[in-house]
Amino acid sequence: MARAAVSDVQEVLLQMDEIDEFKKQAAIVLKTGEVGDESEASFQTINASKKKEEFRNYKDSARQKRVENFYSEQHMNMSVEFVTQLRERHLKLDKCYMGVWEALEYLNTVVDDSDPDTNLTQMAHALQTAEAIRRDYPGEEFDWFPLVGLIHDLGKLLAVTDTLKGLRGDAQWAVVGDTFPVGCKFHEANVFPEYFENNADYNDPRYNTRLGIYEEHCGLDKVMMSWGHDEYLYQVCVRNGAKIPLEGLYMIRFHSFYPWHKHGAYKQLTDEQDERMLQWVLKFNKYDLYSKADDLKITEDTLAHYKKLISKYFPEKLNW
Ligand code: FE
Ligand code: FE
Repeated sequence: MARAAVSDVQEVLLQMDEIDEFKKQAAIVLKTGEVGDESEASFQTINASKKKEEFRNYKDSARQKRVENFYSEQHMNMSVEFVTQLRERHLKLDKCYMGVWEALEYLNTVVDDSDPDTNLTQMAHALQTAEAIRRDYPGEEFDWFPLVGLIHDLGKLLAVTDTLKGLRGDAQWAVVGDTFPVGCKFHEANVFPEYFENNADYNDPRYNTRLGIYEEHCGLDKVMMSWGHDEYLYQVCVRNGAKIPLEGLYMIRFHSFYPWHKHGAYKQLTDEQDERMLQWVLKFNKYDLYSKADDLKITEDTLAHYKKLISKYFPEKLNW
C-alpha cells in the first residue's frame, strides 16, 4: 500500500514532465499530482481558502482511511528494536553519493500517505515551503532558513526504490508521519495513540515508564526518536559537514515531532537547548504546514537562487 503512488507509472511520468518544465519554462504554476485513488476524488490541494483548523485533521479528512492505516502500522512496528535496526542500516550512509539538487529531483517521486493536507509532489512542497519562508526572511543573515525549507523533507528518499542508487524503498510508515521518542512511555498527545497498544514496547517494563531508558531532562540529542526522514536527513547533514546552523538542524531533525512542538509533551526529556530551539522549530512548522495551500510561481531565477544556496551550505556531493 505504501508505495502505490511511486509504482504508478503515469504518476511518475507526470512528475518527471514537471521537472522538465522547471528547466524549460520561464515561469510555471505547479499543479496538483493526481494520485488516481477514488477516495481522493474530492481532495483539493491548492486551496487558498483552507482555514487553519482544517489542517492536520485526523478525524474525517478526505484521506482519512489511508492516514489511519498508516498510523496503525507505524505505531505497531516502531519499537526500540526496530529503530535500532533501521539506524544501523541507514546511518552507514553507504547507499549513494549525490548532490542536494539531484536528491530533490529524486524526492519528487514520493507522495506522503501520512499527510491529510496535501497530495502535492514533494518538489512542489519543497519549493512552496522555501518560498513562503523567503518572503518573510529575505535577508542574507537568514538565507539558510529558506534553504532548510527546500531540503527539509529530503530524507523521504528512504521511500524511493532505485537499486542503482542503493535506495530500497522502505514502507512509508517507516519514513514519514509524526515522530515520537521510543524507549519510554508513548504519550497520549500522539495521533492515534490507541495503536501503540499493538507495539512490542507497550508492555515492556524497560520502555513503558515516564522516563524509560532516559534520565530526566537528558536532552533530545540523547533520545532515540522513531525512525523517519527527519532523523535521517539530520544525520546526512551533520555527517557530510553541512554548514546549516543549529536552529536549522533542529528544524530538520524535529519538524515532525508534533507531540513536543505542538502539544508540549515529553518535556521530561528536553533540556535547556531544546527549549531555546523550540521557537525555531515552531517558526518553521508554520511554513511547512500552512504553505501547502499556496499557489506558486517558480522562475529560472528562483531555481538558480536555491542552487547557489545549496553550494554555500553543502559539499558538492553527499553520502546518503
Ligand atoms: Fe517532513
Ligand atoms: Fe514537509
